[in-house]
Amino acid sequence: MMTVPVNKSAAAIDGIVLDAPIFDPHAFRLNDEQAGIVARARQLGQAVFAGRAAAYDRDAKFPTENYRDLHRAGLLGIAIPKKHGGLGADYQTYALAAAEIGRYCGATALTWNMHVCSTLWSGPLADDLDMDTATRDEHEARRAVHYKRIVGDGAVYSQPFSEGGAAAAGGVAFGTEAKPVEGGWLVNGKKIFASLAGHADYYGVLCTEVAEGEKASRRNTLYLALPAKAQGISVVGDWDPLGMRGTVSRTLLFKDVFVPEDAALMPRGVYFQAAMRWPHMFLTLSPTYMGLAQAAYDFTVRYLRGEMPGTPPVKRRMYPTKQIAVAQMQIKLEQIKAIWFQAVTEAGPNPSKEQVLRAYAAQYSVMEGANEIATLAIRTCGGQAMLKSLPLERIYRDSRCGSLMLPWTAELCLDRIGREALYETGETDD
Ligand SMILES: Cc1cc2nc3c(=O)[nH]c(=O)nc-3n(C[C@H](O)[C@H](O)[C@H](O)COP(=O)(O)OP(=O)(O)OC[C@H]3O[C@@H](n4cnc5c(N)ncnc54)[C@H](O)[C@@H]3O)c2cc1C
Repeated sequence: MMTVPVNKSAAAIDGIVLDAPIFDPHAFRLNDEQAGIVARARQLGQAVFAGRAAAYDRDAKFPTENYRDLHRAGLLGIAIPKKHGGLGADYQTYALAAAEIGRYCGATALTWNMHVCSTLWSGPLADDLDMDTATRDEHEARRAVHYKRIVGDGAVYSQPFSEGGAAAAGGVAFGTEAKPVEGGWLVNGKKIFASLAGHADYYGVLCTEVAEGEKASRRNTLYLALPAKAQGISVVGDWDPLGMRGTVSRTLLFKDVFVPEDAALMPRGVYFQAAMRWPHMFLTLSPTYMGLAQAAYDFTVRYLRGEMPGTPPVKRRMYPTKQIAVAQMQIKLEQIKAIWFQAVTEAGPNPSKEQVLRAYAAQYSVMEGANEIATLAIRTCGGQAMLKSLPLERIYRDSRCGSLMLPWTAELCLDRIGREALYETGETDD
């Protein structure tokens, strides 16, 4: 495992001058262990992933090599409890580390998020939820199997929940169904935009348990890890999107896929409880975009100072209009950082109404703000800065995708903030 110093400022490693952390450990009161994990992610991102990002983007190719490095660095198990061989990071530490990865390769950070979420839902988050002793013991035994695969073998999990209907927004039960049969379930359905399709070892599928003659209910959501090689699973469709091209988010089809009972990532009923009581889990798509916001800002400062590798050392910083643009970007960045840091720090079970509204506001601010900063960066750096030989145009395209991530798209955040700020639960105007 690589060793990384807990650096408080830029430090040279392998000849590379490391960027300062997005969240300075001293200023943001991180302990040494947290700072060390976040620094490990930043070093890997800057020293290794940044150099590979353009090719994954150009070819819309999954970052397989990065996943081998994440495994070697222990980061596939970042949120796995220490007693299971992981780094035991909490939600906040994971979010900060993911922002550092997103700063250097958006597609790696976003897909890593899908993987890590399977360990967050089943790990620290499940520990906060109600289960009777027998259920908790069973969950402990089952998750140990998943964690051993991840920590030991480098197994990669994905998290396909989108189906193209109202289910991913939390409105109705998932249309992908699990029919109880002897020893497990038969799963049938379809997931769209399934990042890591064809590349994950296990698909962490959210589906509805529906017995013969029953009606589908969100309360009966199951979270099952389907082995990618299981009979009845196919990956279909092409993948040639605007941004986040390395996520390879193709369509997954399930046709009578047999899943044994012990493949459950969470016990019956616990996912529904988690979705109700731990809403900050839906904020986990934002760290990637926090990193992209920082990346667009970093690029601009370097470029205007004439210090961007691969470009002539021409300074443009002396023009007042560029100084104003950088000031606007810096203000926006600090606003995003402040609300986002607060939201990921206070994440936990049973948040207050104010905390939930703040989480929506943080998601909206990051997802829209990252693209606003990238837009300003392109305008003020100019034409030579948006060539494909430089990372800015990729950051711009990747950052545009943030607002589209269900269930907390930018539109849905506005929708929820407006309604939930004006109405208490159950209140109507009738
Ligand atoms: C790069 C990328 C990677 C992704 N990876 C994954 C993944 O790994 N797993 C996964 O499950 N999904 C993933 N998604 C999918 C994502 O969460 C959406 O499901 C996807 O963008 C498809 O959305 P849609 O166009 O079908 O949305 P629609 O449901 O058609 O909605 C379109 C827009 O309408 C708005 N809207 C939707 N419902 C409502 C409502 N009830 N009220 C008001 N407004 C509403 C939302 O703003 C939404 O953006 C990914 C998406 C992208 C772009």
